[in-house]
Amino acid sequence: MMIGAHVPSAEPLAEAAKVRADCLQMFLGNPQSWRKPKPRADAAALRASELPVYVHAPYLINVASPNNRVRIPSRKILSDTLEGAAEVGAAGVIVHAGHAEDGVERGFVRWRKALDELEPQVPLLIENTAGGDNAMARRIDVLERLWAELEGYEVGFCFDTCHAHAAGEELEDVVERVLQATGRIDVVHANSSRDAPGTGADRHASFAAGKLDPAAVVDMVKAARCDVVICETPWETVADDIAYLRSHL
Ligand SMILES: [Zn+2]
Repeated sequence: MMIGAHVPSAEPLAEAAKVRADCLQMFLGNPQSWRKPKPRADAAALRASELPVYVHAPYLINVASPNNRVRIPSRKILSDTLEGAAEVGAAGVIVHAGHAEDGVERGFVRWRKALDELEPQVPLLIENTAGGDNAMARRIDVLERLWAELEGYEVGFCFDTCHAHAAGEELEDVVERVLQATGRIDVVHANSSRDAPGTGADRHASFAAGKLDPAAVVDMVKAARCDVVICETPWETVADDIAYLRSHL
């Protein structure tokens, strides 16, 4: 099992080494921007690295949105991100499932449309989210419907422990229910949360400071039976979170 971290983008390989990460996740550009990521000077080094590299797509992306001015640029930047991810030899691009203000049924159609247009050069992994109404993958029952609607498309799944906690899911069996819904978990985001369960807030915390019992995080990681675990916890203490997981897994 590889345990790694979301690292600052300027020098991802050096940062990963500092926290003894086995794999890394990074942004290719500003996560709050629609701008196409610039080519990276270290693309060859990232490609040649033994560390699997994952790319987190910008947070703005919502391919399920009824709003053209969100949905269309979302498809564009997702495509740009996949292209940039291929340049750095990424093992996958992780994108939030988004939400459809006018109902998840329409969101399913928009997800299919987005996938019809994309030509992913690297695997695309859809991630569960923490909050919001009409979210496409906050609740596992909706995730199950989304997955059925996306049958035949090449998509993987990224499970975030903080988001499941914030979503209000029962954590004891949530991974089992996810696996029933999707049949796969390709990456686990192992995070604690600054907030109480069910608040819908997406605020990650370190295992030491968070409101999610670290033992529950470990149990979820074990249950996911997946090779790649990434901590997206505060950078200052992420090495401790990686070490904690290593000693408990
Ligand atoms: Zn995450």
